Amino acid sequence: MTTTGTHHPEILDQLAAGIANLTSSRQWRHYLDFQSRFHHYSFGNVLLIASQCPGATRVAGFHAWRKLNRTVRKGEKALWILAPMMRRRSDTDGEDERTVWGFKFVPVFDIDQTDGEELPSVCVRLDGDDPAGRLDQLREVARSIGFTVMDHEFSGGTNGDCSHELHRIRVETANSPAQRVKTLAHELAHALLHEQFGDRALAELEAESTAYVICQALGIDTSGYSFGYVATWAGGGDPAIASIKGSCDRIQKTAAAILGSIDVVGQEEGVEALSSAETIRATLASGGTHSADIAGTTPRGPPGTAGLDTAGPPVHDQLIS
Ligand SMILES: [Zn+2]
Repeated sequence: MTTTGTHHPEILDQLAAGIANLTSSRQWRHYLDFQSRFHHYSFGNVLLIASQCPGATRVAGFHAWRKLNRTVRKGEKALWILAPMMRRRSDTDGEDERTVWGFKFVPVFDIDQTDGEELPSVCVRLDGDDPAGRLDQLREVARSIGFTVMDHEFSGGTNGDCSHELHRIRVETANSPAQRVKTLAHELAHALLHEQFGDRALAELEAESTAYVICQALGIDTSGYSFGYVATWAGGGDPAIASIKGSCDRIQKTAAAILGSIDVVGQEEGVEALSSAETIRATLASGGTHSADIAGTTPRGPPGTAGLDTAGPPVHDQLIS
């Protein structure tokens, strides 16, 4: 008997409605206001940050962190970026004019190097249990597509990651069982969908939307986390909803393949179903492309990290590929 079912078009509608609600709330405006306090770094500085700290997510100067009630931990090594040196001079009309006359290196620190007050977030980690043993079932799905799943203690609030090169998914040990199920579903979507994928923001939207569909079908409500996660990566409510529509087919097919595999794992006839998860990659590769670009709705990165393509919101899963 099928316990999970495989097609849930209404769940994606719920996701879109939840995102629309969240992004019209005061909580969302507060979040955006907070994000705007982070500096937007130039492309050159983004490269400098990434070369010194590939996992950096939120970067600010020593005093900027103090203003956010966080302190840089003793002994942390600064990341060095270039800041313009400005000179004031009077133009011919006697007006003051500021000009750049050089650059100097200034130290900044990633959030992971700081302690203190939690930053406002629109993603709340799940605190539920996993009475039906879904984590083990999803581990089997991962195994069937050639990925090992490892428990790992991440620093900096990362919940999980997926390496196509190593065929390995890692899931944060300290999180609740329900959060770990959601993370594994998210990373499985990355494993199936994003081996060759240049758009990090869209990859995160697809992975979390797939995890949302899977978890809803399994009776785990991830809305407190997923709505905010998708909206922050997509750049707000309307672009998020347009991108979900654009990727609807990919999300549905991936969720269906994973859920289908779980059903058969439950019946201990794993081989057949697990191959259905494997074939999803071929199906998606042969035409299941995202169509949001056509509609001119390419998502952007999360507010506060423009151009920082290795960065994400502060408390999130991380894709490594
Ligand atoms: Zn991800």
